[in-house]
Amino acid sequence: MEQNISGSEIEQLIQLLSRLPGLGPRSARRAVLHLIKKKQSLMQPLSSALERALEKVTICPICNNIDSCSPCSICNNERKKISKVLIVVEDVGDLWALERAGIGHVLYHVLGGVLSPLDGIGPDDLFIDNLINRAADFDEIVLAVNATIEGQTTAHYIADKLSDIDIKITRLAHGVPVGGELDYLDEGTLTQALKARSNFD
Ligand code: ZN
Repeated sequence: MEQNISGSEIEQLIQLLSRLPGLGPRSARRAVLHLIKKKQSLMQPLSSALERALEKVTICPICNNIDSCSPCSICNNERKKISKVLIVVEDVGDLWALERAGIGHVLYHVLGGVLSPLDGIGPDDLFIDNLINRAADFDEIVLAVNATIEGQTTAHYIADKLSDIDIKITRLAHGVPVGGELDYLDEGTLTQALKARSNFD
């Protein structure tokens, strides 16, 4: 049992921060100590920013993204609004990753998870109905779910639901990552890469 060496406010802060992804108790203690040392220049602005975010952050009713405005800044973007390509992702983090990659004028739809019978997650728990409702506004739906069993099951379920609409349904290529060395890849990835081979151009 670890002994508390600080007052309750500091211990509480450490405990809360240690719940963040990527931070264990040790990193949380270091972060808290750093914050306390930089009380004016970091702790105060962080506290204010958290308070503002708590007040402002909301979920976009169109795409399920998280933003401080509604609809979100992507759905509200004049150049993106006219896009005919809709990218479906599992989580907001995936949307942000694709946006960081700068893939152009596309719109997104965040499912909020994947189908997982073992965890009791069914179609009604995801943002799927809204996707079916908005799909007809696009020429192409890219099912950019993760390459896991649950991700692929979810992709098949959605593709089936969209089969009545005249629309192109695509998915991300699976295979060798940029900068990847074949010798380090698992058999599943190598098999997928070979299956999805393309013309050398
Ligand atoms: Zn949105």
